[in-house]
Amino acid sequence: MPKRWWRKRMMRIYHPNPSEYQLRDLDVRHFVADCVMTNAEAIVISAGGIYAFYPSQVPYHHVSEAAKDRDLLGEITSEAQAQGLKVIARVDFSKAREDVWQAHPEWFQRRTDSETVRAGVYYVTCPLGGYQNEAFAHPVMREILSTYPIAGFHVNAGGFHGFCTCPSCAQAFGEPIPSGPDADPAAWRRFLRWRGQAIGRQLRPTMTCCTRSTTASSSWPSSPALRAPSGPSRPASISPPSRTPSRRSC
Ligand SMILES: [Zn+2]
Repeated sequence: MPKRWWRKRMMRIYHPNPSEYQLRDLDVRHFVADCVMTNAEAIVISAGGIYAFYPSQVPYHHVSEAAKDRDLLGEITSEAQAQGLKVIARVDFSKAREDVWQAHPEWFQRRTDSETVRAGVYYVTCPLGGYQNEAFAHPVMREILSTYPIAGFHVNAGGFHGFCTCPSCAQAFGEPIPSGPDADPAAWRRFLRWRGQAIGRQLRPTMTCCTRSTTASSSWPSSPALRAPSGPSRPASISPPSRTPSRRSC
């Protein structure tokens, strides 16, 4: 199988990560031109998850105020393609808004002493629940892949970030989930081993469901378990990337 484009050579990827309020009046042509000036091979752009930056049709995918009257992701991907820059779509399924929690509490993490796990105004979702999988994340990623010329995904903030005692996790682990190593160190070690394996199993269908549904075949997970083998840091002599147009199939 031929090497994927991201494994052919070292790359420079620029992640501008503007705040939502900065996107409301974004001059897309100027923004992309600034990104090109960094000599980046690709840019990471917020696309979906907690907020959609395009007119999504997926239930519970709340469209950002910054994209209420415009298709921001469409504008950026089109302009980036015109200027020879690849776009990696950043999605974040680790948290969701209160209305989603109210409708589907079974999608969210729990602790033994608390019904919910909060992150500011958001509720933390469970990696094994439907939200991060077939009920929400997969339709969102398919929608993005089938609509925009993106070159990959950056799946932000995956994993458990501790432990979860929701019914999905309790059933999958098969024994009471420990909250730390003190009470039963052996059970905690079994849990840590299971947790890593569970995340690996969870991410595989997330990747394949998207790549099989379109001609694109790349993903850009932030999980260390699925990163490409790490190489040395970028040498000072690296050549700037060539400005070849992005292609739908990568
Ligand atoms: Zn859980």
